[in-house]
Amino acid sequence: MSIFVKKVSKKFGNFQALDEVSLEIKDGKLLALLGPSGSGKSTLLRAIAGLETLDAGSIIINGRDTTHLDIRKRNIGFVFQHYALFKHLTVRQNIAFGLEIRKYSRQQVKRKVEELLELIQLQGLGDRYPAQLSGGQRQRVALARALAVQPQVLLLDEPFGALDAKVRKELRAWLRRLHEDVRVTSIFVTHDREEAMEVADEIVVMNHGRIEQVGTPAEIYDRPATPFVMSFVGEVNVLPTTARLFRHHPHYEIGSQVFVRPHDLEVQTESDGKSTEAKVKRVIYLGWKIQVELALPDDLTVAVHLSREQFAQLNLRSGQQVFIKLHNAKLFAEPSKMLNIV
Ligand code: ATP
Repeated sequence: MSIFVKKVSKKFGNFQALDEVSLEIKDGKLLALLGPSGSGKSTLLRAIAGLETLDAGSIIINGRDTTHLDIRKRNIGFVFQHYALFKHLTVRQNIAFGLEIRKYSRQQVKRKVEELLELIQLQGLGDRYPAQLSGGQRQRVALARALAVQPQVLLLDEPFGALDAKVRKELRAWLRRLHEDVRVTSIFVTHDREEAMEVADEIVVMNHGRIEQVGTPAEIYDRPATPFVMSFVGEVNVLPTTARLFRHHPHYEIGSQVFVRPHDLEVQTESDGKSTEAKVKRVIYLGWKIQVELALPDDLTVAVHLSREQFAQLNLRSGQQVFIKLHNAKLFAEPSKMLNIV
């Protein structure tokens, strides 16, 4: 089912939690709402679920305006960060709960529950109680319970937020596979960029109750729409354009800022005439990549990420003099800060 969010606004007192948010989610997609704490992700999810009354705007699900539709009639599955399983019911009974309310026959319930147990790969654990499961297993049961009633839309609010890093990582891959099986239009909230990148077809980056960009993980990373997106989805050096570093780059307004990812800076051991002198301050081994901190003119420090091969070739050590080169295509500035030079 497709979802249209049209100019949705929501205030809590004087605080604008959502500010004219518009968004389209295509049928069968898995979308991540990504942003810092307080950016409005959960409020947007709750608005789509019908858990918040809106100040303005509308929510259209599959062509139908659901803005004022009772939450029970929206046919939405919801999974929260803190699994809300019924403690006194077994895994099977938890999954069956919504089906029984909807008056499915005993046979149908039984068949559906077994299918779902298989889908969440907990076949052997159907008779356990929630207290006898790990956190990750409980979240899988919560998902099965949400999916049991065949929702049109599945909404997940930081579903793995309460789990430890290793389980989280396992469940991300699992959620992706599950989505490929089930293909129900899904939206999940996260503040973890890696999680969003790994799991989602498309990412919606939010900040201050607004959407900064919507795009695939590659689009968001390689073509960020704003400096905020660029720094939120990856590491970034912020360079003031007054630096001597920019004498070969006249496209930027003086006094503005230019952004560049650490792996997009080139380090040379000899000047090619278009590079700027720098000094190796510190070398940090990060495993598969190596971070080199360089001191530049005008008291600037930049971080450069090198592969192990690049690092070995350059043979860098602390205190060494090197040259740094900026490539125009790898630099990012707000469009208003670019000068029109023909
Ligand atoms: P987090 O990652 O911390 O959950 P979020 O991006 O999901 O953040 P929201 O939960 O949508 O953010 O909240 C956005 C802002 O609205 C926050 O500053 C929050 O304090 C405020 N807010 C949310 N719900 C209410 C409420 N019921 N009453 C008052 N303020 C609220």
